[in-house]
Amino acid sequence: MLIHTIEKLRELRKSWNSSKSIGLVPTMGALHEGHLSLIKKAKETCDKVVVSVFVNPIQFGPSEDFDKYPRTLEADMELCNSAGVDAVFAPSPDIMYGKGNRLSNDTLTYVCPPFFYVNKLCGKSRTGHFDGVCTVVLKLFNIVQPDFAFFGQKDAQQAIIIKKMVKDLNVPVEVIQCPIVRESSGLALSSRNKYLSEEGKKDALALSRILNNIKMCFNKGITDIEALKETAYGYLTDKHDLEYLEILDKNTLEEQEKASSDSIVLIACRVDNVRLIDNIYLGEG
Ligand code: AMP
Repeated sequence: MLIHTIEKLRELRKSWNSSKSIGLVPTMGALHEGHLSLIKKAKETCDKVVVSVFVNPIQFGPSEDFDKYPRTLEADMELCNSAGVDAVFAPSPDIMYGKGNRLSNDTLTYVCPPFFYVNKLCGKSRTGHFDGVCTVVLKLFNIVQPDFAFFGQKDAQQAIIIKKMVKDLNVPVEVIQCPIVRESSGLALSSRNKYLSEEGKKDALALSRILNNIKMCFNKGITDIEALKETAYGYLTDKHDLEYLEILDKNTLEEQEKASSDSIVLIACRVDNVRLIDNIYLGEG
């Protein structure tokens, strides 16, 4: 069932027996197997599953790809229907933020996660991005009122920040994090992979290769963070514009003296002018 308005979503939510558990999978659409893995997990965990499809304007910077972000609602509906999703909530920006409202924290209430969590990795180059993410996610939580919400490890910093928001603001939702789904080549699935040329797709394999190689070196006993990071250079060419490569604590994003089984390696790199991110845990997930 496709729902565009908050009123209709609330009506449906009310019609569900209160003993039923409800799962929310927030997405920006252009759904792929990565999203589908979250939906499957939600189906396994919950009685009712809502998928939101919303390209959230306030998490995009002025020079980012908001206008050209892929919008494929018809195909998304097909995928959701065949996965047994109970409702797809696809509001417009006007519905979410009010018609005529200027989308800014001068005029609207924003949720701002702590500086420590946003002043690194993706937050460094994407000013205000995580304010936009937390604001929309809290709004979706308030609209759908799910018991469980499903997020991918693909956006590791996002998942950590959402968990922090839920804890700090006592939001009655359990956040479930799901592993990264990859193509057989190793490339992490992403809606933005659609922007890559054939050549770019090959160049994009450097990200997962760098991560796997760092994990292999760690497994061989190298724990010096700089030494581990330096192994990346063998994979980078002039086709790669590396934004960051960091090894941090997987739960807190704190710096560590040495890499450990609690570390996560995170990379962001532009290929074909497409910004790609990926990460890997050095220990068990
Ligand atoms: P997006 O539509 O890109 O905002 O992503 C919606 C959700 O799907 C987020 O929680 C992402 O982390 C998750 N996701 C995106 N790509 C993947 C993937 N390759 N594997 C697992 N989860 C993913």
